[in-house]
Amino acid sequence: MPVRNRFAEMLPEITAWRRDLHEHPELLFEVHRTAGIVAEKLRAFGCDEVVEGVGRTGVVGVIRGRSTASGRVIGLRADMDALPITEATGAAHASKVPGMMHACGHDGHTAMLLGAAKYLAETRHFDGTVVVIFQPAEEGGGGGKVMCDDGLMKRWGIHEVYGMHNMPGMPLGQFAIRAGAFFAATDQFRIIVEGKGGHAAKPHDAVDTTVVAAQLVTALQTVASRNHDPVRNLVVSVTSFTTSSQAFNVIPQTVELKGTVRSMDAETRAMAEQRITELAQGVAAAFGARADVTYNRGYPVMENHPEQTEFAAEVARQIAGDCHDAPLIMGGEDFAYMLEERPGAYILVGNGDTAMVHHPEYDFDDNVIPAGCSWWAGIVENRMPAA
Ligand code: MN
Repeated sequence: MPVRNRFAEMLPEITAWRRDLHEHPELLFEVHRTAGIVAEKLRAFGCDEVVEGVGRTGVVGVIRGRSTASGRVIGLRADMDALPITEATGAAHASKVPGMMHACGHDGHTAMLLGAAKYLAETRHFDGTVVVIFQPAEEGGGGGKVMCDDGLMKRWGIHEVYGMHNMPGMPLGQFAIRAGAFFAATDQFRIIVEGKGGHAAKPHDAVDTTVVAAQLVTALQTVASRNHDPVRNLVVSVTSFTTSSQAFNVIPQTVELKGTVRSMDAETRAMAEQRITELAQGVAAAFGARADVTYNRGYPVMENHPEQTEFAAEVARQIAGDCHDAPLIMGGEDFAYMLEERPGAYILVGNGDTAMVHHPEYDFDDNVIPAGCSWWAGIVENRMPAA
């Protein structure tokens, strides 16, 4: 079974939805226009239930099969939010909002799940219930968690959940997946180094926070390289270094460092938090300064469940002929929260040789739509076959 013919027919229509979403990107939980369009379309498709405002601006649609005797309920999830990036694609459908763009393809994810919902509501060739989930705030904000905290899984009795993300650099429409840990836990740290500011010509009367913070940036490299088992995975990146004065002749009173930690297991995560704190306090103390460390745990590791992963790969093989082994990805994904609550799997679909996600020249390739929609439909029709 290759791509379903119905989705080839629907491609112009779904492309038009996708490009409209692309022209009107919205950030985090502020996806009001997008969520409104999603809800309106789900109602027009004849979904049995459409609920807005789940997890602030999330939307849920329910599609019951011709029979529901199996009692099974499957959740299918797409994300709706864009990024604070100014688009540089030059596309005719480029963002009309300065400083915002769909640079991660969530416009494509939303359009593909809408296409699948339209097809499933038309055909209903399954025995059970489908819950389509459109979440806000994947790019920070944890919209997936907020929807779960709003009772998503219990309220609709969801047994399993599935997710999909496009991936530049993979051939168009090719699928890849892995069981177990897949996307990293993403934490943030902020370190305020406080010394003694002063005149730059009199360093001996100051405690130079720039020098202390520079030593600390170097010391932090040892968390991944010296404290961590090299066969496991850890990223510690200092991403921001801000002195409280930008003058030529002032030793700044404080320096603020910010950074991110990406890990794949709880032990590594705890070790990184502890070592970052110890190094900050120890290095600062050695130079007569102080360090104030704030460590915030973000998205957990996203772990695919083995049985659902194999099933998701089998559906991908039916469409694309094969399903590849995906590498570990040190990026984060808040579908992790849904996979903590229910078994399920998250798959990658190739976006072809395009700019990487989060780049100003990235664009979702609409030609992947039939493959993506077919995978959604295949999940439903294979997991809950019509009686
Ligand atoms: Mn994304």
